[in-house]
Amino acid sequence: MSTPAISTSGQPRVNLLGLSLRQMEQFFLDIGEKKFRAQQVLKWIHHAGVLDIGEMTNLGKALRDKLQLIAEVRPPEIVSEHDSSDGTRKWVIRVDGGGLVESVLIPEGGRATLCVSSQVGCSLDCSFCSTGKQGFQRDLTAAEIIGQVWLAINSYDAFRPGASRVVTNVVMMGMGEPLLNFDNVVAAMDLMLEDLAYGLSKRRVTLSTSGVVPALDKLAAVSEVSLAISLHAPNDALRSQLVPINRKYPIAMLLASARNYIDAQRDNKRVVTVEYTLIAGVNDQPEHARELVVLLRDFPCKINLIPFNAFPQSGYERPSGNAVSRFWQVLVDAGFVVTVRTTRGDDIDAACGQLVGQVVDRTRRSERHRAAAEIQAIQVR
Ligand code: SAH
Ligand code: SF4
Repeated sequence: MSTPAISTSGQPRVNLLGLSLRQMEQFFLDIGEKKFRAQQVLKWIHHAGVLDIGEMTNLGKALRDKLQLIAEVRPPEIVSEHDSSDGTRKWVIRVDGGGLVESVLIPEGGRATLCVSSQVGCSLDCSFCSTGKQGFQRDLTAAEIIGQVWLAINSYDAFRPGASRVVTNVVMMGMGEPLLNFDNVVAAMDLMLEDLAYGLSKRRVTLSTSGVVPALDKLAAVSEVSLAISLHAPNDALRSQLVPINRKYPIAMLLASARNYIDAQRDNKRVVTVEYTLIAGVNDQPEHARELVVLLRDFPCKINLIPFNAFPQSGYERPSGNAVSRFWQVLVDAGFVVTVRTTRGDDIDAACGQLVGQVVDRTRRSERHRAAAEIQAIQVR
């Protein structure tokens, strides 16, 4: 585990990795320095990949010495790295306190999409989600969130001048509910968009939410990233079974809030991505598709169908290819733009939450002296 970040004065060191431009400027003003220092430090960290404050040569020796006493630049720690035969790379990452999260880089054509986690576990307990089954441990800090982007680039040695871009898109679709960790997620997404950091366009950074409506209502005022909502069902009765937060914020509220979000954006060509995980025999029937057509008829969206990723003891199954195509066809015939998420990185359990799920399950199982048999079963699968 990484060492606790305590400065010589006994105060925790400020981790500069997670500070947005505005926060970094305030930090320098607070310590009696000029605010343009923020721009220099951001470039060192996010353009050059430098973690050692001593190497930030244009700060001057006195400022470097001062910073080293009170600050640090510390990404979380990679526990393991897994390469899939299809080019997907996945990292299991340990954060302070020992919690594990995952990020996954999925190359497709000229793009490479990094799926980033926002919490250790998740409190919302969607019935088909491996992260939900692990319960909630804690929010990630902004440094731990943006640190996943930093680690992915560093893992390809791509902070070198002239190196090609490793991460072209980011989706907040890893472990956790990003809107329940609002401030840290917003700070990290600011860095993703910030030219002095990763400079991604707002269309290439996507926040996915299961529907924390009050937080989504707040987001429009502070962020312009693209929005995905996890719908998964065409009516409240079914959605409440799959996504328990629906009991508090039902579909109509979620759709209204998502619409307000895109209406508040300056470019008026935006649509919401509606995610729909297809689970065999649960929400994948043609009548569900027809109900979805009616529900979303006037809603500015594209639909992303995600065949359920099975994990041990989920109690659910992935639908057949035929069932997926049938569902897809109903939506396409009704005029929707529909994509089906191809399953990537199957051999490394790249669906977010699943590898950590295995680690967590293993621990529990080993306590029950059943580890050997179970691990073998996972490997055979
Ligand atoms: N908490 C946020 C973001 C993380 S989950 C959310 O729920 O939107 C990212 C997406 O993966 C969500 O649409 C989620 O419903 C989906 N998902 C979770 N577990 C899945 C599984 N086992 N198979 C397929 N999709 C799953
Ligand atoms: Fe949490 Fe999203 Fe999983 Fe639901 S699907 S339990 S909100 S991570």
